[in-house]
Amino acid sequence: MKYSRNDGNSTNVCFGCGKRYKWRDSLLRHQRVECGNKEKKFCCKLCPKKFYHQYKLNEHYQGRHKIPKLR
Ligand SMILES: [Zn+2]
Ligand SMILES: [Zn+2]
Repeated sequence: MKYSRNDGNSTNVCFGCGKRYKWRDSLLRHQRVECGNKEKKFCCKLCPKKFYHQYKLNEHYQGRHKIPKLR
């Protein structure tokens, strides 16, 4: 079996949530287990992103928008 290697050139982006993966396998696994299975209930109020978990949203606020924890 031969794996085709993309040396970081082509990024696999999940169309469901916008997550990026270096490897297609990782993306497919993500889509199978994380994406599509659950509803994304936690919406960012500052951009169109949505998350499955509250802590992910918090991380996003802190990382992306530089906002400390919301409660
Ligand atoms: Zn996804
Ligand atoms: Zn956001």
